Parts: sequence; structure tokens; C-alpha cells
Amino acid sequence: MNKKTSCTRINSKCIYCQNSEGEFKTQEHFFPESLGGGEWSVLPDGLMCDACQRYFGTKVERLALSDWPFNFVRFNMSIPTKKKKPAQMDTDLGHMTACKIPGYSKIHLKSGVSIADKFPQLEIQIPAFPNEPRLVCRTLVKIAIGSLANIKSVNIFAPQFNPARQFSRFDDNRIKWWYLERVDRGKMRKAFELGADV
Ligand SMILES: [Zn+2]
Repeated sequence: MNKKTSCTRINSKCIYCQNSEGEFKTQEHFFPESLGGGEWSVLPDGLMCDACQRYFGTKVERLALSDWPFNFVRFNMSIPTKKKKPAQMDTDLGHMTACKIPGYSKIHLKSGVSIADKFPQLEIQIPAFPNEPRLVCRTLVKIAIGSLANIKSVNIFAPQFNPARQFSRFDDNRIKWWYLERVDRGKMRKAFELGADV
């Protein structure tokens, strides 16, 4: 959570809870920094209240971004966390940590696991499913709302976006949301070999 250096604009209104009251003092990346969101992804001032930012950060995104498939993307692209720690993944053998050298990773084996038993054909199983699919979905919808808010021709406060707001911010389960996962393995491989420019 970065503090803004500029003043809050007069007509602040949160794109998630639609409140105009409260503090609007922090800077938000609509595309998470831990997925590679840079300066280009900073939401314009006055569009997200501090209460919503705190809520998403602690209750939704913290768990979702360390869950499948975000953890895999972050790991393969060696994208560090906001606190500049390397991305990590749990495997059946133990903890895997992305190295600063693209294409390499460190594995911290669980105690009692013998690496000799696994050679010469070392296999690592990575759970390829989300533990918290609802939080992953709410994070995706949150990113979508933030992305749309950044497009000048879109009226993000239009009622058509209310169900998305209700789901991502308030966990409203009246509408079922789902998502598809598409992987470009070539691009993924390239990012793994060359690292992400973040
Ligand atoms: Zn809000």
C-alpha cells in the first residue's frame, strides 16, 4: 500500500463500494504488483477508498495471489512479491522458491524426503488447482473492474457493473461467476528462461 504524494481529488467515489465518504489516500494498482503491474497500472486518484483497499489486500488478494494459477505465473516469471521476496510454490517434495536467475529455482525439501530416492528421474508434483477458487475469481473480477475504470469511454459506475462489484467486494453469491484458464506455453517458457521485466 503506497501513500500518495498528491492530494485526493474532490469528487472521489469508490468503484467497488460506490461510497464517496471515507479516506482516499492510498495508491492502488488495478493490476497487482505481484503479477507484474507497474506504474501503468496505477488507478487514477479518488477511485478506490482506503477501506476497500485494506479489505481486498487482507481478505481476498493475499490468499488468491498465492493460489493457483497466480502462484504458477508469478513463479515461472520470477516476479517478486511487493516486499521484493521471491515467488514461492508448494510441491509434494517441499517448498520451491524462484531464483533471481531466470530459469532456475530452489527446492527446499521437506524433512525426511530423500532426494536420492527420486533421482535420476526427479519428479515434482505441483497442485494445479486453486485452494480458494472463489477468492481467485473475486480477484479476477476486481482486476476487471479496475481495468475498465481506467478506460475513459467506460462509465464504471453504470448499474451493469453492480453485480461484479457486489461479488468481488461483498462476496454476493446471487450470481454464479466462473472463469476459463488459457495457457500459452511458449510465452510461459520464454518468460521462465528470460525472466520478467518488472
Ligand atoms: Zn470502497
